[in-house]
Amino acid sequence: MHMACIPVGLIQANCYVLWDEQGKGVVLDPGGDEDRILEMIRRNRITVDYILLTHGHIDHMMGVPRIQTSTGARLLIHRADGPALADARISLYTDFGIPFQPMVASRLLEEGDVIAAGSIRLQVIHTPGHTPGSACFLCEDGLFTGDTLFENGCGRTDLYGGNWEAIQGSLGKLAGLPGDYPVFPGHGPSTTLSTERRSNPYMRYSG
Ligand SMILES: [Zn+2]
Ligand SMILES: [Zn+2]
Repeated sequence: MHMACIPVGLIQANCYVLWDEQGKGVVLDPGGDEDRILEMIRRNRITVDYILLTHGHIDHMMGVPRIQTSTGARLLIHRADGPALADARISLYTDFGIPFQPMVASRLLEEGDVIAAGSIRLQVIHTPGHTPGSACFLCEDGLFTGDTLFENGCGRTDLYGGNWEAIQGSLGKLAGLPGDYPVFPGHGPSTTLSTERRSNPYMRYSG
């Protein structure tokens, strides 16, 4: 699997582009800077099957309309964050004072769903807490954690639908995954699950 990480948008969210040897791929969290994302897609001749959202916040979804129009990709988000696609307050567009364009998911995801794009398989892990429908995506090459787990940190829980007990449970769920994986968060540098199990105070607290 090939991967590119492009920090994008208002507060530098990590947009990840994943693709296989045949050029089939997904775009995860296109939070802005669509020209840079589209340039990456064109340069590598990627057919984007899906746009995946780890959750429904503006800094992860602002680029969805243009990426969707340009690629024809289908949009996927966990069911519990589905309402954010149609609500400027839940998705925080109102807070940033940015005009909102409602989006439509082609399917709402559930715990355990597997998304297939070419030879890439991504398993959906529901990790509520930062938002009700925050989700992580697990493949053999890594774990994409959105705003649930950061290097030595975790997402805030004081926004709409946030829940401190829930994110503690979600961090415990991630800590309990078998084995070790590279971790690719929604903001900041990548890390590994074993490092976070050992030294992330929020993850330790969760266990
Ligand atoms: Zn967020
Ligand atoms: Zn974010």
